[in-house]
Amino acid sequence: MDIFDKCRNDEIIKTVNYLKEHGVFPYFHTMESGQDPEVIVEGKNMVMMGSNNYLGLTSNWRVKTAAINAVRKYGVGCTGSRFLNGTLDIHEKLEGEIADLVGKEAALLFSTGMQSNFGAISALVDRHEYILLDEYDHASIIDGCRLSFGKVFKFKHNDMADLERVLNFIGKEKGKLIIVDGIYSMEGDIANLPEIVRLAKKYNARVMVDDAHGIGVLGKNGAGTAAHFGLTDQVDIIMGTFSKSLASTGGFIAADKDIIFYLKHHSRILIFTASMCPPNTASVRAALEILRNGERRRKQLWKNTAKMKKGLQLLGYDTGKSETPIIPIIIGDDEKAFRMWRILFDVGIFSTPVVSPAAPVGRALIRVSLMATHTNEHIERALEAFEMAGRQLGLIDTNRPWIKRNKFKYMNIFNVKLMRNWMRDLWR
Ligand code: PMP
Repeated sequence: MDIFDKCRNDEIIKTVNYLKEHGVFPYFHTMESGQDPEVIVEGKNMVMMGSNNYLGLTSNWRVKTAAINAVRKYGVGCTGSRFLNGTLDIHEKLEGEIADLVGKEAALLFSTGMQSNFGAISALVDRHEYILLDEYDHASIIDGCRLSFGKVFKFKHNDMADLERVLNFIGKEKGKLIIVDGIYSMEGDIANLPEIVRLAKKYNARVMVDDAHGIGVLGKNGAGTAAHFGLTDQVDIIMGTFSKSLASTGGFIAADKDIIFYLKHHSRILIFTASMCPPNTASVRAALEILRNGERRRKQLWKNTAKMKKGLQLLGYDTGKSETPIIPIIIGDDEKAFRMWRILFDVGIFSTPVVSPAAPVGRALIRVSLMATHTNEHIERALEAFEMAGRQLGLIDTNRPWIKRNKFKYMNIFNVKLMRNWMRDLWR
């Protein structure tokens, strides 16, 4: 038996090939531009509706200049871990700034968001201790649990009765860590933190929030989900990533000083990998500076979110329980979601389909996420595409009159006539 046999006979690979043959494979498309509201994908100008660049800072000149200056001063990499030769003054400054932002005593940087979860969970949860996960928690939390020796229990998504059932089952005496996402990355709903911290107190559990999508988006100054609920003191650990609102790569764990000090000396994921590169570190510091005075950007993000969501709901789409700039458009079966993605793609809208197992079977969706830098024109163009695609696939009421929209000057990129012809050809 050759261990590489699976690479040739794998079910997933077969599905990928099938989807590619039928022109509906939505992943690994190549971009030739930055992550802006308009992107160039395989030579084609598109409206970006699937980025996590919520505040639009990846191409902000201050952020870019900070990265360039850091390369001039420190070079491009650290060539070692924080533990050995890879701790820079800008790492320590950024740690202080992050702790201030989220309202914790201390913070520790990791090289990615995923590694932050790996590094914290694997170091903190020992044998004979328990982790309680929301079933929709991000993959980096689930895999972080695999690296720990703790026992893992899942509770139903944001279902507090189910969380209490599991807490009760484990009992008050055992060490327990509840880990939830602040904002759930696929459906855009927010964790019920007030109830989670109440139950944690009742059953002697600790609480960790993965706020990858909450930092920069929720709470005063973008401090995140705990701040949004006024519960910063009652959430023990706040994890965040720099790869979304903060426009770079890297991540952090923020908590009480003693927890951070312990992680610094126990987390293998920190100790045995190279530290964040200088340009990444400096660009996050510049992005944080913008965030501190960034009320206008955040307001624009929420304005854009409200406009998109209202437009989708007017069209008759089910947008689930989203309360944030992540808006799911529930499609149903996986195949329809792929077809929907393809129609949108062909008319110049970049979106991301989420199918099983990332979404429950029968609840495949198209994930749309807004940026502060989207203009009304971008949103209108996306809504128009969703209207046409939805009618074509029978997802929205085809008898309803077309919603009248403003026609913007640069509708020429989004060629309505061409799109209608294409759809007629494809589905006839
Ligand atoms: N947690 C959540 C909730 C995420 O959505 C992501 C990234 N999609 C991560 C962690 C991992 O972050 P990174 O991409 O910075 O490794």
